[in-house]
Amino acid sequence: MNVMLPLKAETLVRVRSPETVMAHLHEHFGEHGLVSGEHGGWSVEFEIGKASVALRDGSLAFRVEAGDDTSLSFLQWSVAEHVNEFAPGEEPDIVWRGGTAPGAALPYFREMKVVRAVDVTPAMRRLTLAGENLGRFAHDGLHVRLLFSPRPGVTPVWPVMAADGRQAWPEGERPVARVYTIRRIDVEAGEIDIDFVLHDGDEMPGAQFGRDARAGAVVGMTGPGGGTLPPASRYVIAGDETALPAISRMLEEFPADARATVLVEIANDSERQEFAVKPGIDLHWLSRENRPAGSTTLLIDALRALNASHWPDELYVWAGCEHTAARAIRGFLKAERGLPKKRFLVAAYWRRGQAGEVEE
Ligand SMILES: Cc1cc2nc3c(=O)[nH]c(=O)nc-3n(C[C@H](O)[C@H](O)[C@H](O)COP(=O)(O)OP(=O)(O)OC[C@H]3O[C@@H](n4cnc5c(N)ncnc54)[C@H](O)[C@@H]3O)c2cc1C
Repeated sequence: MNVMLPLKAETLVRVRSPETVMAHLHEHFGEHGLVSGEHGGWSVEFEIGKASVALRDGSLAFRVEAGDDTSLSFLQWSVAEHVNEFAPGEEPDIVWRGGTAPGAALPYFREMKVVRAVDVTPAMRRLTLAGENLGRFAHDGLHVRLLFSPRPGVTPVWPVMAADGRQAWPEGERPVARVYTIRRIDVEAGEIDIDFVLHDGDEMPGAQFGRDARAGAVVGMTGPGGGTLPPASRYVIAGDETALPAISRMLEEFPADARATVLVEIANDSERQEFAVKPGIDLHWLSRENRPAGSTTLLIDALRALNASHWPDELYVWAGCEHTAARAIRGFLKAERGLPKKRFLVAAYWRRGQAGEVEE
């Protein structure tokens, strides 16, 4: 990374076994970025910035550097989270010099207001949310965490910066968080669109907000998160309706000569959406014929049925769907197709019978 990283924050952290924590961090960060240096001191470059660590007087001296305050906060958060993970039970003191002040608004938080709603299909409703200063939400990640009121009529408190770089909560009722995809962003107009799947169920803050919210309704938003597709000679992309917003954006952002097979599972044919599809994209709609979401093997069956020409060496596979389907797809790609880990990403977007984010 040869770009300027004008923002930085530093912290000195005392843990019982700094060498062990450093070794774990080295291994973990190495999976997500480019590590250089030795065990006594090394740095790792990520897409969003750089983190360095060195042993100093029996403590760990961290420095994070980034081009914007959201990226800097994400790096601070990641260091704090992983030091705690690799020094279990110690809860070491982490206090950063530099970066967003403790108690201040998170740089990656926005309060958004619903301005419009439109039915995209019978079971997909699009809300347009308006907010300020959305430029950072247009790159380095398609997803956001939406923070909904926990009960009708309650305005929740919003998270603020903690001294250790993670999130702290003021006194009051906390919101309920669900992950959604930015379907469209218009930074100049200060708008984003979110497409909500109106799935079955009683207690489902996300789908209920998507169904009921009217102009003026308030929702918190943090992000963006998630990665980008790596370069490949060919892609196979698979997902159910919850992944359709992400798949649509990937298709829009593909270069004109990209080649991809795209498999989208939907409840029935009335859920098909119109897309401008580039010539090298082969899009298939797989109808559940109204069977319950998360109850079929449509995606894995369609993947298995793709013939050898769909599986060149420089392939990349991306999938987003229900947890059981995601596990089956991962198993298939590893065991039956022999794909190395770096050639696929399969994400569980939701889990049948379980509310909230899926623990992998
Ligand atoms: C990276 C990422 C991006 C996502 N993007 C989108 C998006 O753009 N649009 C979108 O609609 N969803 C998206 N999702 C999925 C969404 O976060 C989940 O479906 C979430 O559970 C919805 O929250 P909820 O409050 O409606 O239901 P919850 O309170 O989480 O769940 C209540 C009940 O509903 C069931 N349930 C949850 N989702 C579904 C579903 N899709 N179909 C059937 N039953 C369900 C649960 O199993 C549970 O029994 C995304 C998820 C991830 C991880």
